Amino acid sequence: MTSLWHADATPVHDDPLTAEDHDVLVVGAGLTGLTTALLLARAGRRVAVLEARTVGAVATGNTTAKLSALQGTHLSRVRSHHSAQVTRAYVQAQVEGVAWLARFCEDHDVALQRRTAYTFALKHSEVVTVEREHAVAAEAGLPVTLHARLDERFPVHRATGLADQAQFDPMDVLAALVAQVRAHGGTVHQGHRVTGADVAGGIQGGPSLDLADGRTLRAREVVLATGGPLLDRGLHFAKMEAQRSYALAFRTTEQTPPPDGMYLSAGSDSRSVRDVPRADGRLLLIGGAGHGVGRTRSEAEHVDRLRAWTAEHYPGAVETHHWSAQDYAPADALPYVGLVPRGGDHLRLATGYEKWGMSNAVAASLTLAGQVLGAEPSWAQTLHGARLGARGALQLARMNLGVGAFLGLGAARGLLHRAPDHAPEGTGDLGRAGLLPTGRTTGPEGEQCAVVGICTHLGGVLKWNDAERSWDCPLHGSRFAPDGAVLEGPATQPLKQRG
Ligand SMILES: Cc1cc2nc3c(=O)[nH]c(=O)nc-3n(C[C@H](O)[C@H](O)[C@H](O)COP(=O)(O)OP(=O)(O)OC[C@H]3O[C@@H](n4cnc5c(N)ncnc54)[C@H](O)[C@@H]3O)c2cc1C
Repeated sequence: MTSLWHADATPVHDDPLTAEDHDVLVVGAGLTGLTTALLLARAGRRVAVLEARTVGAVATGNTTAKLSALQGTHLSRVRSHHSAQVTRAYVQAQVEGVAWLARFCEDHDVALQRRTAYTFALKHSEVVTVEREHAVAAEAGLPVTLHARLDERFPVHRATGLADQAQFDPMDVLAALVAQVRAHGGTVHQGHRVTGADVAGGIQGGPSLDLADGRTLRAREVVLATGGPLLDRGLHFAKMEAQRSYALAFRTTEQTPPPDGMYLSAGSDSRSVRDVPRADGRLLLIGGAGHGVGRTRSEAEHVDRLRAWTAEHYPGAVETHHWSAQDYAPADALPYVGLVPRGGDHLRLATGYEKWGMSNAVAASLTLAGQVLGAEPSWAQTLHGARLGARGALQLARMNLGVGAFLGLGAARGLLHRAPDHAPEGTGDLGRAGLLPTGRTTGPEGEQCAVVGICTHLGGVLKWNDAERSWDCPLHGSRFAPDGAVLEGPATQPLKQRG
C-alpha cells in the first residue's frame, strides 16, 4: 500500500550510471545513505548512491517520521543491556541526530514541526514501564517531565515527555538531501540492485560492488546503507529481528482533532499518534500493531485493529491512507554501525535502528563519514566498545530459536512438497493445506505468476502477506513482490519461477 508520504512525493530523476571509479559508493537511498553521501560529498569526496528501487522506497518513505531522543521505551531496553555510560552515549547520538536533521530542514526550507514527544501508559499495567523510561531518560541526561495525566482523547495513565522534538514528511527530507548531494557533485542512481561485494576489488585495496545487471563498480570506500543487512559476511541478519508495523492516516472531525504532541504507548502492542499538517487541514496518523515479519496469521487483521482503535477514540475519522513497513531490532538494542566484520578496512554498514531511524540514521551517518574522514564522534567510540553482553547473548539465542522453529517447519513442508498445480489461483496462498512451497498470484501488471515460495536467502518458507500482497520470509525478513522480484531484506535474488 502507498504511504501518505509517497502518495504526493515528486519522483526523483536519475543520474546516468557509468563505469567510472568513485571515492565512495553508498548503497541505499534512504535517510542513512543520502545523509552519509551528503556528508562525504561536502568533504570533497566523489560519491555515487546506488539504489535498488527508488529513493525512500523502503523504510524511510514508510515511517511515521517522529524525530526524537525519547523513543517509546527504547532507552530502558538499551539500559537493560548496557551501562549508564553507554546509554548516555546512545542518548548523545540521538540528541545530535535530532539537532543535525532539524538544522538541515531549517537550512533547506523543509517543513518541520516542533512537538513534545511522549511515552505514555495506555493501561494501568504500563505505568511502571513509563516510570522506568522516565528514570532512565533522566539518568542519561534528557530533560524529561513526568505527567500524571494528559488531556487527550485516548487514556493516559502516566506519561513522560521531552519537549522540542520534531516531526516532518520524510519524502520532503529525502528530496532535499538528494538535491544537496547533487549540489556537492554526488550522483544518485535508482533501479540498480547490488548483489555482492569483493572487499579488495576496488581502488587501492577498496571494495568493488557487483550489480544485478552484471556490471561491477569500483571504489575506495563502500557504505552499505540498505536498511536491512545486505551481505551475509557479518551475520547481522542472524543478530536482529525484522519487525513489521502499520500506519494509517485519517481526516478527523472538528470535534475530534488530532493531538498537538507525538505519542507512543509503552505496551508491547503499541499505539503511535501524531498529526500531519497539510494545506487543507491537519491529518491524524496512527501507527503500531507490530509483529515479526511473516510471523502472523493475517497482516490485514493488524490494520483492522488500528482502525478499530481509531474509531473508538476519534469517532467519525475517515481513513485516507494505510501502509506498513519494517525495521530491524538487534538483540542488544544498539545499532550496528562501522566496518563489516571480515570485510577489510573500507566496507562499512549501518543497520538495526529498531524503528528509531530518524535520529539513528543521522547518528550513523555522522559516525561512518567521521570514520572515513578520520573524525569519529566521541559517543560513537563509546558505542563501539559496547557490544553484546550476557543478556544480549541470551536474547540472541531466543531470537534464533524462533528462526530455528520456522526453518524446521520449512524443512517439513519441503519434504511434503508435491502437486504444485493445487496452489489456488489468485489467492497467493501457499497451497490450501499449507504444505506447498509454490504459489500463484497476480503480478504487478495483472499477469498470472507462479513462483516457488522458498526464500532465496536461506531457504525459509514464505508467508503470503494479505495486507501488502507480498511474499514475506519469517526467518530474516526478506520480502518479494507477487512476481517474485526482491522488495527488501537480505535476499538479493528473485524467487524462482515454477518450471
Ligand atoms: C512502521 C515504521 C514506523 C517508523 N517510525 C519511525 C519514527 O517515527 N521515528 C523514527 O525515528 N524511526 C521510525 N522508524 C524507523 C525508520 O523509518 C528507519 O529506521 C529508517 O527509515 C531506516 O533508514 P535507512 O536509510 O537505514 O533504510 P531505508 O529507508 O530502508 O533505506 C535503505 C535503502 O536501501 C535500498 N537497498 C536495499 N538493498 C539494496 C541493494 N542490494 N542494492 C541497492 N539498494 C538496496 C532499499 O531499496 C532502500 O531504499 C519506523 C519504522 C517503521 C517500520
